[in-house]
Parts: sequence; structure tokens; C-alpha cells
Amino acid sequence: MKIGILAIGNELVSGATQDTNSSFISRELTAQGWDISTIMVAGDDERTIGNGLDCLMAISDASIVTGGLGPTTDDITTASIAKAFDLNLYTDEAVLKKIRERFEKHSVKWTPNNIKQALFPEGAEPIPNPTGTAWGFSLKKNGHILAVIPGVPSEAKRILFEGVIPLIKREFREVRQYIKSRTIKMFGPTEAEIDQMIRDVDLKIPGISLGFYPHFPENHVIITSKSLTESVAKENLEVAEKRIEEKLGKYIFGYDNDTLEGVVSSLLKKRDMTLSVAESCTGGLITDRLTDIPGSSTFLDRGVVVYSNASKTEILGVPDQVISKFGAVSEETAVLMAEGVGKLGRTDLGLSTTGIAGPAGGTVQKPVGTVFIALTDGKNTMCRRFLFKWDRRRIKKISSQWALEMLRRFLIGRSLND
Ligand code: AMP
Ligand code: MG
Repeated sequence: MKIGILAIGNELVSGATQDTNSSFISRELTAQGWDISTIMVAGDDERTIGNGLDCLMAISDASIVTGGLGPTTDDITTASIAKAFDLNLYTDEAVLKKIRERFEKHSVKWTPNNIKQALFPEGAEPIPNPTGTAWGFSLKKNGHILAVIPGVPSEAKRILFEGVIPLIKREFREVRQYIKSRTIKMFGPTEAEIDQMIRDVDLKIPGISLGFYPHFPENHVIITSKSLTESVAKENLEVAEKRIEEKLGKYIFGYDNDTLEGVVSSLLKKRDMTLSVAESCTGGLITDRLTDIPGSSTFLDRGVVVYSNASKTEILGVPDQVISKFGAVSEETAVLMAEGVGKLGRTDLGLSTTGIAGPAGGTVQKPVGTVFIALTDGKNTMCRRFLFKWDRRRIKKISSQWALEMLRRFLIGRSLND
């Protein structure tokens, strides 16, 4: 049982408006256990719509068409569908009456072109639009169910839930599947490396599929499990997840809605440890991410942005001589920044970043993308040097990610170095 989606509108193919309806519809239908065969986008053009319908009919059992049901001359979805199926149009008097009543109720002036919104191909069943005047309709052709709904996103959503999903459920009840999924979130290896590492993992489990989704700087793997029985879908998902974890466990920082900052915050709370942060090249990004987490005041004492050399000396007590001898971007400076901010905040931990985000400022010894991140627990201080080959924004982002990852590793007792 497959469902196809066709979004119609010149503004969608020109790129002026993003086709959000299709992603919303496919997300909802997928969550309800149906497979989506395709998402197509067509302009307001009779031939393209006709060809799109042919394709939908060939590869799907049902289709949802959205857009082009308005009263204006550019909206030609209904007429194009009628033409493609060689059907005449009829005026549905009951619908016309309802539309006119809606105009009166909202004191909107009636114009004759609105009659178009009560026109349907012969054999179509109108689908009410509770929040607008563009009614949808459904049509059955050679066993294929076609549901046509307006383009205005709020109206499309409402009709999807109230008209279309109930219709599809009625027509295709017996072939509905249960779908369970799990997102595994990793930081460190690339998606190609992840793929390679799990090549020999046995994932030939019925109904299991895997997707790789890079979310810079993280990599997410989504396991999807489908079965006609809910408990089987759940069990198979658990088996697949366990096999992947055995191989990739050390790179996994979280699941589903977890964030790295959220995971680090939970670990800090669990271990009852406090933190101060001194940021140079990340410009406050680490503190921003940590303060996104409710309750961060229980562990976060302060985050200081020490961008100039003078501020590193004045606020954190990094000696002038250290900066002039080793540079503001150096292991020595990073270490003293972490230790300085830890002392200043009287916290268990001190974390620091200093680096060259570019595009200027690089040297042969320290090219753009060189970043030092240090972490101290008051007794030992550990510093890592990185060389990131990204643009300024991404260097900031990945630096904040590594800083949080180093914290996470420290808190779970794992080596910070590999
Ligand atoms: P129409 O269905 O052509 O009357 O479109 C009404 C409004 O809904 C237009 O302003 C479009 O920008 C918007 N719209 C139509 N189709 C979509 C879609 N697939 N995704 C998001 N917005 C849409
Ligand atoms: Mg349109």
C-alpha cells in the first residue's frame, strides 16, 4: 500500500514558496504506518498535472494532491484532473450554498468567479473545508483513491486530518503497518565511516531499514522498523539497535530528541559538578547551548567571552608573557584560560576555547581552523589541538561541539583523546 503526493502551484516550482504541505503530509502518513511512494511538485499546468497523475497512478494505491483549488484563473487543478480522467465538471449546488453562506458570515463580497470552487469532476465526492472556501474532493479511479485538498497550509492540515486520513483508513484498513523508529546520534566519525563500521553488522531483520542523516557536525542514523504487528515492530527495532550499539557505542552521545548540551547537562547534574566556561573563538556559543537547557543554573556558574588578549589577562589572569611567547591561540593560553575561569567561578570544572576562525589570521604554524580546547578539574588540565577545515560559522559550531564532547567524555570517564 503506497501513497503518492503531488503539490501544485507555480510558486512552488519557481522556488518562491517552499512546499511545506508535502513534507507535513508525508510525515503524518508515515507516522500512521503508510509508505509514501513519491513527492512530486508541478506548476499550474494542465499537461504537467496530467503526467503527474499518470505517474502517481502507476506507482501508488492512493494519492493526495494539494493546491490550485482557488477561484482565480491560475488555479487549474480541478479542471486538469477532469481532463486527465476524461470527466465532465458539475456544479455541486449544496457546496455552492455553503460557500455563499461562508462569504456572508464573514462579510466578504461575493464575486462570480467563486462559483469555480463548487465545480467537481463527475463522480467526485466533495470534502468539506471547515476553515476556507476551497473544498477538497476525492475520486476513485481503477481502484486508485485520489484525494485533492487546498494549498493553504492550515486548511490542508485540517482537511488531511478530518477528511483524508479517515478516508484512507476506511479504504485500506487491512494493510496498515506499524512503524517504530529510533534516531541514534553520533559525533566524531563521518557518515561514510559509520556506514563502513556497520557493514558487517547483521541487519537483515524483517522490516528493518537504515537511513544516514548528517546534521553538521553530528551524524544521525535512523533505524526504521515496520511490521503488521506492533510488538514485532518494537522487538525488531530493539534487536537492530542493540547490534548497531555494539559496534558504534563509543560514538553515540544520545537518541531521538537528545542534544549534546542536554546530555552534558544531565551528566553534570548527576555527578553534582559545577562548571565555568571561558570562550574566545566560540564567542559564547558553548554557554548559549548550555543555557538552552532548563535548570542549567544548577551547574553553570559563568561563561565569559574573552576575545582580546587584554581580556584574557585582565579577567582570567593569563600572563602577558605567555600570550606574547606562545600566542593567544596556543595550548599554554588555553590551559591557563580553563584554569583561570575555574578558579574565578570556584567551580569543579573549567572549560576554554581559543582558536582562529578565519578567514584571515592564519599562519603556517597555526593555519585558519586551529583551535585549542582545554578542560580542567582543578587537579589535572587536559588540552586538545584541532584543525578544522570549515568556514568561520562551522568552525565555531564544531569547536563548541568538541568542547561539550570533551566534557561528556570526562563525565563518563572516557579518554578525551581518541
Ligand atoms: P492555492 O492552493 O494555489 O490557492 O494556494 C494558496 C496558498 O497556499 C498560496 O499562497 C501558496 O503559497 C500556499 N501553498 C500552496 N501550496 C502549498 C504547499 N504545497 N506548501 C506550502 N504552501 C502552499
Ligand atoms: Mg495556486
